[in-house]
Amino acid sequence: PDPSDNIQNTPKLLADHLKVTGGKVVTRFPPEPNGYLHIGHAKAMHLDFGYAKKMGGKCYLRFDDTNPEKENQEYIDSIIDSVKWLGHEPCEITYSSQYFDELYDLAIELIKRGFAYVCHQTAPEIAEGREKMTDSPYRNRSVEENLKLFDDMRQGKFEEGKAILRMKGDMKHPNPCMRDLIAYRIKYHHHPVSGDKWCVYPSYDYTHCLVDSIENITHSLCTLEFEIRRLSYNWLIDVLGLYRPVVWEYSRLNLTHTVLSKRKIITLVQNNFVSGWDDPRLSTLNAFRRKGYTPEAINLLCETVGVTRTNNTTIPFEVLEYCCRQDLDGRAIRAMCVFDPIKVVITNYPENESEEISAPNIPSNPEKGTHKIDFSRIVYIDRNDFRMVDNKDFFGLAPNKEILLKYAYNIKCNEVITDETGKVTELRVTYDKDNTTKKVKTIHWVSAPAGEEPAKAEVRLYDHLFKESELGDDWLEKVNPNSLVVIPNALVDKTVKDSKQYDRYQFERVGYFCVDKDSTTDKLVFNRTVSLKENKEK
Ligand code: ATP
Ligand code: MG
Ligand code: MG
Repeated sequence: PDPSDNIQNTPKLLADHLKVTGGKVVTRFPPEPNGYLHIGHAKAMHLDFGYAKKMGGKCYLRFDDTNPEKENQEYIDSIIDSVKWLGHEPCEITYSSQYFDELYDLAIELIKRGFAYVCHQTAPEIAEGREKMTDSPYRNRSVEENLKLFDDMRQGKFEEGKAILRMKGDMKHPNPCMRDLIAYRIKYHHHPVSGDKWCVYPSYDYTHCLVDSIENITHSLCTLEFEIRRLSYNWLIDVLGLYRPVVWEYSRLNLTHTVLSKRKIITLVQNNFVSGWDDPRLSTLNAFRRKGYTPEAINLLCETVGVTRTNNTTIPFEVLEYCCRQDLDGRAIRAMCVFDPIKVVITNYPENESEEISAPNIPSNPEKGTHKIDFSRIVYIDRNDFRMVDNKDFFGLAPNKEILLKYAYNIKCNEVITDETGKVTELRVTYDKDNTTKKVKTIHWVSAPAGEEPAKAEVRLYDHLFKESELGDDWLEKVNPNSLVVIPNALVDKTVKDSKQYDRYQFERVGYFCVDKDSTTDKLVFNRTVSLKENKEK
């Protein structure tokens, strides 16, 4: 048979296809369950699910699970979780492995049609043959012999690596993907879905196009590195006389200061550069989620970068941070947090009294309401917000200077108490109940009811995991040793008191923060999601 014969078949194939799909768009998002999804996959999902949704069609979540030694249930579960988190709704969750019987039958058909043979070359011999465009000595076996040997492979009569099934393409073809790619290899390995049923597993090149065809995918979207494989994708479907989807390629998402590859992320996790798959410094979706990113922020990034075929575009990390602020500004409730507290005693405030001050939840949106914070004679401000010597650009407090405690009162510093090393330990101030002096600079603060202490919190500040924006082959040597700074004893106002994991706040003047999974009622833990402004120290 000649592959072009498939054209004769096309009207019938199309009619059958339309009968199944009703003419609707069908796409798939096909991750291999060999790691956690990263933000690059968010772009793929945005296209796969997004295009189907826009066209009134449907999209499968398909696990491309043909390498059992690298895949496991933990990855499958986390992928399902991340897909849902981003708001995508698969029409069905499928597995390439659920088609193993069908794929095996198609391999037999492929042998019968003279387009596959069992080969015993070693991996280096195969690579050499491909490079030199020379045929394998096993290439011209009879159909009968190939059928017998393939059956022996399936029955476990060969050791791993001693026999493979190869597609019979064209060893002289200018496109290396036509030079007899591997269809099946032997692996004595338990599979997370099909168990121990098989010891021969189909390759990506063999599986992907056939499962696209079986699932009646209309548009098979993939990243540009697969463009070279489009020829073999089409070839295999055509020689088997099957329905053929349309393949569209688009450019991968790359971000500065990070690595987007499951293999590299695994290396970082396994070598303890980070605490796990969801370490907020990683680029996995779980990491961004733990850090406080919303699905909306990530989808906004995908929207912003759009779909192109320009290769090698690396999006500045700042674009992602911008998208994140855009989303959080209107939804992260304001609270106050002091990283490095100095005690401030308001000498003219009654000793046993306290009051509650009203603060807006979202200043730009009064409809979002207000919350109450405690104010009493003892208040804490950040060490950065005090200087012995003032100057006109300094926004904080200094001796004899008056500033506003945000949402509360003006205070004026009358006395500075230091320890023997000269370190400031306490400030004595007076407050002005009526805030008579307008236009003073404003700082944040934390207080508690009289006789009580404000709640403590641990705050984790993250910098890029890689200081350099573009990474080369020596990326692993470029890990930033100071990518995590822990503030162990910050003080927080009571707004955050009963927070649970993923609750998000804007700490006034400091940044956006999210409650970490390590947080307990005794000790709250916050991750900095993103700073307030781009230029600020990260
Ligand atoms: P990795 O190298 O990180 O393992 P992959 O391409 O092998 O990535 P798959 O699980 O096979 O990962 O990917 C599922 C889908 O996501 C594929 O269609 C793939 O092209 C797409 N994809 C993966 N990485 C990116 C990226 N950085 N940008 C856009 N799409 C991506
Ligand atoms: Mg892959
Ligand atoms: Mg990969």
